[in-house]
Amino acid sequence: MTNGATALGAKAQIDFQCLDDGCDGVVKFNLSDVASRDFQAVCPKCHRTYALDSDLKDKLVRMMNLVAAIRDSEDVLGDSNVSVNVAGGSVKIPYALLLTRLNTLITLKYGDRQVDFHLWIEPSSPDTFR
Ligand SMILES: [Zn+2]
Repeated sequence: MTNGATALGAKAQIDFQCLDDGCDGVVKFNLSDVASRDFQAVCPKCHRTYALDSDLKDKLVRMMNLVAAIRDSEDVLGDSNVSVNVAGGSVKIPYALLLTRLNTLITLKYGDRQVDFHLWIEPSSPDTFR
């Protein structure tokens, strides 16, 4: 396990819609589990297993490291804003809001299909982003 995975714990979860036609199951797994060599995700409904190839794993692991880096900078990000220009001026959106209120979606190729992976991230402390 990498340091990033250790630091991250089980606080980042990925889910995606099962690729089996006619199955509406949602496959979920912890981002930190992806790095393990024999990792497989399983659909809770049809029990289809998903083995991730090295390319996909690599992207998810790098995503995880990015999440770990963001987490590591929570106190800094808590003081940061994203400024968006709108008609008549600009609005400041707290960075923390972007991280906690918006769902991160990463679209990656699985086999010959494009799959939307939802990424759910919890702040390490409930008090961090308020
Ligand atoms: Zn399924």
